[in-house]
Amino acid sequence: MMAYQVINPATEEVITSVPMADAGEVDAAVARAAAAYETWRHVAPGDRARLLRAFATVVDAHIEELAGLEVTSAGHPIGQARWEAGNVRDVLNYYSAAPERLFGRQIPAPGGLDVTFQEPLGVVGMIVPWNFPMPILGWGMAPALAAGNTVIVKPAEATPLTARRIGELALEAGLPPGVLQVVPGEGPVAGRRLVEHPAVRKIVFTGSTRVGKEIMAACATQVKRLTLELGGKSANIVFADADLPKAAASAPYAVFDNAGQDCCARSRVLVQRGAYDEFMEMLEVAVRGVRVGDPHAAETEVGPLISAAHREKVRGFVRDDVAFQGSCPEGPGYWFPPTVLTGDGRAWEEEIFGPVVSVLPFEDEADAVRLANDTSYGLAGSIWTRDVGRALRMARAVEAGNLSVNSHSAVRYWTPFGGFKQSGFGRELGPDALGAFTETKNVFIATD
Ligand code: NAD
Repeated sequence: MMAYQVINPATEEVITSVPMADAGEVDAAVARAAAAYETWRHVAPGDRARLLRAFATVVDAHIEELAGLEVTSAGHPIGQARWEAGNVRDVLNYYSAAPERLFGRQIPAPGGLDVTFQEPLGVVGMIVPWNFPMPILGWGMAPALAAGNTVIVKPAEATPLTARRIGELALEAGLPPGVLQVVPGEGPVAGRRLVEHPAVRKIVFTGSTRVGKEIMAACATQVKRLTLELGGKSANIVFADADLPKAAASAPYAVFDNAGQDCCARSRVLVQRGAYDEFMEMLEVAVRGVRVGDPHAAETEVGPLISAAHREKVRGFVRDDVAFQGSCPEGPGYWFPPTVLTGDGRAWEEEIFGPVVSVLPFEDEADAVRLANDTSYGLAGSIWTRDVGRALRMARAVEAGNLSVNSHSAVRYWTPFGGFKQSGFGRELGPDALGAFTETKNVFIATD
């Protein structure tokens, strides 16, 4: 069996090594999940709800342990890692209210009774990336389980530790064996097998657009249900009439949080020409103030990148159009300073997934819309203006699934999240996510 060395990206030390499942082990997990499904789908709604609340309670009791694992294996600052573990608890609690409310409809039909049922799908396979290992796991797992499915999670190679622990906590909370399984493995081996296995009825994939396209093609051969959450190149649009100090002070965190390894990163800043110079002066102060450093330290805002290879990829985007940079530690660790560019080349167009932002001026609303939509992605974006009409016109015109006005709102578990265009399809979180884990069945009962 192959093993993967998990490395602390802040120190470059090997933490542990985790066995990687082969296709046969994935098949065995699918068999267990399929068997568990026959029982789990029939667990009374109130009991399923209680088990999910118990799971949330056990996660809550292990926030420090889970956060600590993410600090050492993913380099996330401790405050952020605690929030991420808490997010798993909150999402479980939110969807624990779903089983008793998963009702169908009664539709008028002559000569009988027409009703619909929301039936679970069966075994759901989740393929998770390394950038937010805990929240992304929770966003799929919680509604899938609430709806009566069983779940197999394949975490990213680099970050299997929190997922593995959450799998153990599920058993501790009383979830029956086989209902939630965590199977660390390589994407092209274990991930691929989950996608191809005919008993896996749905795949939830979060990751790169390149792999997402491959998975979509493979799912097509079985007409397998699929949710895709892919990349982004989101715009932060600042009009001259905006609260410029607030827009400039918050812009670094909208792209440099999690070292830019965030699919919602506002990595293109568009500034109306009349305000451009003033904005850049304030942005420079804000960028130099971003605290990059030891993820264990409470005051740290940004940690290292995930790996040496990823840092090289990020570095490749930084050429000669650097306006200014922040600072980062020297020595061991995959550090990269917050970097502001002003060109419209490759760094402007492609997702970098690192602490690099490009700033360009625009003329008017139409120009801002054209620039914001000039990308194959459509995940998120921000609009800064004091004109409420303009804010609404822009919010309707920008082709993206998650927009915020005069803020850079984080993802909220009770509102829908997902992408337009090549950022993916399907929506996670919010009141409608159960629909992604159920099929509507229509039944007509004759009374005549
Ligand atoms: P990735 O696509 O390389 O890997 C994601 C997951 O897919 C990993 O678990 C990996 O093992 C698995 N995988 C790789 N090849 C596979 C294959 N052939 N078959 C099945 N599974 C396979 O992406 P990454 O580098 O882990 O994550 C970074 C990317 O994820 C970025 O592009 C980012 O934008 C995107 N992302 C999107 C969202 C979102 O919600 N839209 C959230 C987080 C990350």
